Amino acid sequence: MAQLLDGKKLATTMQAKMKVEVQKIKENDGTAPGLVVILVGEDAASKIYVRNKETAAGKMGIYSKVDRRAADITEKELLALIETYNQDPRFHGILVQLPLPAHIDEEKVIMAIDPKKDVDGFHPLNIGRLFAGDPLMVPCTPYGIMKLLAAYDISVAGKNAVVIGRSNIVGKPMAHLLLQENATVTITHSKTKNLPEIARQADILVAAVGVGHLVDESYVKKGAVVVDVGMNRDANNKLIGDVDFAAVEPIADFITPVPGGVGPMTITMLLYQTIKAYNMQKSGV
Ligand code: NAP
Repeated sequence: MAQLLDGKKLATTMQAKMKVEVQKIKENDGTAPGLVVILVGEDAASKIYVRNKETAAGKMGIYSKVDRRAADITEKELLALIETYNQDPRFHGILVQLPLPAHIDEEKVIMAIDPKKDVDGFHPLNIGRLFAGDPLMVPCTPYGIMKLLAAYDISVAGKNAVVIGRSNIVGKPMAHLLLQENATVTITHSKTKNLPEIARQADILVAAVGVGHLVDESYVKKGAVVVDVGMNRDANNKLIGDVDFAAVEPIADFITPVPGGVGPMTITMLLYQTIKAYNMQKSGV
């Protein structure tokens, strides 16, 4: 039977420590780390994510603002808005909730955020620094997974890691973070042949696919560490992961649940990086 990698518990512990850190900042500096979240349009899932971020930031004493804009905002207006927040010293972190309406170029928007305020870690400069092995701001989901592995003393060096999925926000940065910790990394995707066979080589298997219950017992080696990033809805609208938990849990040594695994760590790392951004900007880095 596998041990649970309890992201909810670790997130609670980390957030309690961060709350104390924010309190100290307020006492010493008379100001607080600030995060602005820009939400464009009415996407239902985005609204929930943004509300969760706002609530968590508030609990921790981080100064947060949600700037809600109509779906018909022009690209030019959005870029100008980002520039005002780049210049606003009250906000150390800027996050533009994705996806954006089709008429807006997401690349351009991400590029417009000051890399020092890019708490999502999506700016090409931050991606480049991660790939060069000198990370500054790191995409929050894979960063949270690395914290989770470390919290359970799971060593990564020398292990075979297989990442299923190659998105810019999860799969690719995940692979680079594992590589940086000296894992031997294989990245797989929808065109990969013999995926179960490759996945079975993994000591550490990360599924970031977006296909509910794709990973069953045929993908998992006995004793593997299985990390499930997926957030999918089944026919009954129940939240399910990319991993068939019931089938895999008896084989794995460690496994993340969905919900309560990777998700709570993602939001925690966003706030962690907001505090980091504050400290960097204060010290002029
Ligand atoms: P994405 O951009 O859609 O990327 C999915 C990746 O999976 C792609 O690289 C795709 O391959 C690959 N893929 C799709 N079907 C596959 C298959 N049958 N076999 C092998 N590979 C396959 O998704 P994402 O943004 O990375 O997110 C992945 C999942 O994680 C989603 O369920 C998302 O909701 C969830 N997520 C969760 C959190 C969290 O905090 N828990 C954060 C972010 C995302 P190609 O490149 O060849 O198309």
